[in-house]
Amino acid sequence: MAQDFDFANRLYYEYEYFKEKTITHRRFKHSGLLTIINKLKDKNIFHVKKAGESAEGRDIFLVSIGTGERKIFLWSQMHGDEPTATMAIFDIFNFFSDASKFSEFKKKLLENVTIYFMPMVNPDGTEIYERRNIFNIDLNRDAVRQQMPEARILRSEFENIKAEFGFNLHDQSTRYSAGNTFKSATISFLAPSTNSEKTVDTVRDKALKLTVALYKVLSNFIPGHIAKYSDDFEPRAFGDNFQKWGTSTILIESGGWKDDPEKQFIRKLNFIALLTSFKSISEKNYENQNLETYESIPNNEEFLMDLIIRNLKFKSKGLEFLIDIGINRNEVNINNGKSFYYESYVEDIGDLSVFFGYEDYNFSGMELHPGMTHDKIFNSLSDLEKINFEELYNQGFTAVKLKNDSLSKENSSLQYSSFPINLVSGESHSNEKIEIEGPADFLIKKDGKVKYVIINGFIHNVENLKGEIKNGLIIK
Ligand SMILES: [Zn+2]
Repeated sequence: MAQDFDFANRLYYEYEYFKEKTITHRRFKHSGLLTIINKLKDKNIFHVKKAGESAEGRDIFLVSIGTGERKIFLWSQMHGDEPTATMAIFDIFNFFSDASKFSEFKKKLLENVTIYFMPMVNPDGTEIYERRNIFNIDLNRDAVRQQMPEARILRSEFENIKAEFGFNLHDQSTRYSAGNTFKSATISFLAPSTNSEKTVDTVRDKALKLTVALYKVLSNFIPGHIAKYSDDFEPRAFGDNFQKWGTSTILIESGGWKDDPEKQFIRKLNFIALLTSFKSISEKNYENQNLETYESIPNNEEFLMDLIIRNLKFKSKGLEFLIDIGINRNEVNINNGKSFYYESYVEDIGDLSVFFGYEDYNFSGMELHPGMTHDKIFNSLSDLEKINFEELYNQGFTAVKLKNDSLSKENSSLQYSSFPINLVSGESHSNEKIEIEGPADFLIKKDGKVKYVIINGFIHNVENLKGEIKNGLIIK
């Protein structure tokens, strides 16, 4: 075990050397995969095979390395908007391509095991950054029925390989916490059940023990940020069935990490977790782990929001009371999933003392006011460029009016406000109430003066000009 820690530490400090530099954010496409696969074809240590084609004709690959008898199979991104582990697999390809570092380790490992990778099982969903495939089918509910080409490819390679260990690689909500804490569930593990009684046979026992080994190693880097996923049996899913069909299978879910929206740190954690797994499997280091430790890993819980502001005074209908507000920010795909904007909403109000925020402020003594819409109707977007937004915030405005036709005709592709303010079409009136699932546009006043403004769920300190409003919304 101590050896595994040292190994993981070295990987942590040498990671940048192996990182695949052509991939820098989550929304890379199948073309990015092709570039990397083509490079592998020139290197004789890899065996690259086209495993089949997606519904829209994109190639799905199986890459293997090693000559060992014991087999490990990894598959990633069967959900198109869950790319973190795919990025880590690219880094792992570089790890094996490199001839200068970890040579002894790699030589021994690849004599013991053969590793099979199927990165990007759902390339059509990836192309538009959606979970499901092009027929709107969740591939992870098609392990048994086998109606989708991508699901048939994954299962048929699984049956050819008959691996001893399997890694089912996904992303989960960034808002899961590790137990009832403020710590995000950055990585969650699961050794899936094979029936609703959740029995532990020898196959699952190995997966549980390897999970414990990984939990201990990763805890060095992200203490308290590791959770376990619900082990309720899902009879349609790949992980549960692969475990049932004899491959010791571990689910790894990449969650959230503060200030890492592109999940580049979590990508690094996947790199470490997977390579440490290979080592542990090859050397059978996992065998002495204790299943009670698995039970002690905190569950994924839903106690996290993106922003919580607490203890604000609020006046409504002649009553004054204290409230907390919890706000979440969702990504909305644009440009066919190549990019996104944020759309935020009020998740909850009232006493939120049992919840935690990635950003969490106690504004005791300050007052909450819904943001107002400025009366003047602006003619065009270029007019907005001349506005002093700070001045508007100070006057209590979180939205400006724009002539109807500049929102629709001239800019039919306009889907969000790239200004740090919301845009309201000329005739309509903005909603100046606080509502669950309503807009997250507020002013926070101290001693009668605006101190903070919240626009589309992003908080900005008016006095110190701090905090970035990523985008405003168009309110129609
Ligand atoms: Zn998933």
